[in-house]
Amino acid sequence: MASSDLYLNKIDFLKYLDNTDCTQCGVTSCQEFILALKQGFRKPRDCPFLNENKVYAFEVALNISNSLPEVPLLVHPRPSTVGIVELNGPNPDSLVLITGNNEYTEEILMAVLGTTICPFYIIFVDTDGNTVDMAMVYKTLTAERIYRSLKNTSINEKSDRKELIIPGFASPIREEIEIWTGWKVLTGPICAAELPLFLSEIWFPHNE
Ligand code: SF4
Repeated sequence: MASSDLYLNKIDFLKYLDNTDCTQCGVTSCQEFILALKQGFRKPRDCPFLNENKVYAFEVALNISNSLPEVPLLVHPRPSTVGIVELNGPNPDSLVLITGNNEYTEEILMAVLGTTICPFYIIFVDTDGNTVDMAMVYKTLTAERIYRSLKNTSINEKSDRKELIIPGFASPIREEIEIWTGWKVLTGPICAAELPLFLSEIWFPHNE
């Protein structure tokens, strides 16, 4: 059975480096450093411009594939629970992540989020069990459905922050979501494994 690459090849590691090609890491450019990281010839710590959190975020993103489930190339709808999950004791200032109610999506997201003690609210929108990419194709992840999820989960009463992070695939409906919900909407990465890098300032490891 062919497996999905889970969009790991879409992780834009370069975006999180200083991108000065200064060579202090021992290779000729930041691009080459990324290649060396993937091949195991360099460690994130070899770039002196990465702080501790970013080093950790790079390590998580580079190694997360070992913790992810095998997902078939063609995923049929596999509905999981709809609603809100509170992770690591969120408070009114915590981030709110939006995703679809697909079993694989849930498993992958929880594996990635399991690498931090950062608190989150996660809202699993009813996408008829589609993964986010397929939900955009079949239009089962819409601004209206996200609006209804916010309402059904009463997140309005829990969050003062009023800021959503949507998956990268949902970027075409970002403005529509802001209009429907009245919340600020940030477009997150396409691959869930990039979240530690995207949120590296708050991606604290468990042992801190
Ligand atoms: S030390 Fe960091 S900024 Fe400099 S080339 Fe290497 S990866 Fe790029």
